[in-house]
Amino acid sequence: MLLVDSHCHLDRLSYGSKQTSLADVLAKAAKLDVGYFLCVSVTQAKFPTMLEAIAPYPQVFASCGVHPLNQEPGVDAELLLKQAADPRVVAIGETGLDYFYSPENKDVQQASFREHIRVARALNKPLIIHTRDAQQDTLQIMREEGADQVGGVLHCFTESLEMAQAAMAMGFYISISGIATFKNASALQEVVKALPLDRLLVETDSPYLAPVPHRGRENEPAFVRDVAQFIADLRHIPLDELAEATSRNFFELFKLAKK
Ligand SMILES: [Zn+2]
Ligand SMILES: [Zn+2]
Repeated sequence: MLLVDSHCHLDRLSYGSKQTSLADVLAKAAKLDVGYFLCVSVTQAKFPTMLEAIAPYPQVFASCGVHPLNQEPGVDAELLLKQAADPRVVAIGETGLDYFYSPENKDVQQASFREHIRVARALNKPLIIHTRDAQQDTLQIMREEGADQVGGVLHCFTESLEMAQAAMAMGFYISISGIATFKNASALQEVVKALPLDRLLVETDSPYLAPVPHRGRENEPAFVRDVAQFIADLRHIPLDELAEATSRNFFELFKLAKK
């Protein structure tokens, strides 16, 4: 069995007594059949050190982008194009809109989101989109900027089935994180049951959002197995089948990621 953590922030894990190195974290994940990882960039300033940290590990792929909640000092479009052109970069993001945590700078987030879609199209690389409490604007900007030409994923999805369907109609995949395992996530669980298997990805978004039964601990890529098991149980299919589909989807979407 092979599982892929389609979205994690490996450079943000705390390395101390529990796990001493990235090598430890990847080995622990591998023991649970988690064999590939997409390490997602959230600032331009830390992108070079992120690339350096994952350089020894061919099973770790990179994205390049500026998180919607990291809009200080703002996106340097020229630098984004240059950094994202690195051959190890398989996707653009994470980008998108988060009006839940930051409703006060919508215009800045929107401009950044548009810039990321333009860069994605220029480089022909898929998008990693973060969207929270911003359904209409996210879909409208995706349409206006031609996001369907490169496709991508709505990551850590917590929105409605209608939004997922609108994004899938533009060729997008939907990635589910540990949030789906939370006690109060019944609405999201209904969405997860209804999504087509050939559009589904799984992720941890580690070090954040540890799934049940690891709540209160730092999240790590090994726990994507718990997310996958939960979804498999929810859909009444074997874990093997869920793993096979989500891993195939991952390599279909991120074509520059090579096994
Ligand atoms: Zn995110
Ligand atoms: Zn993230």
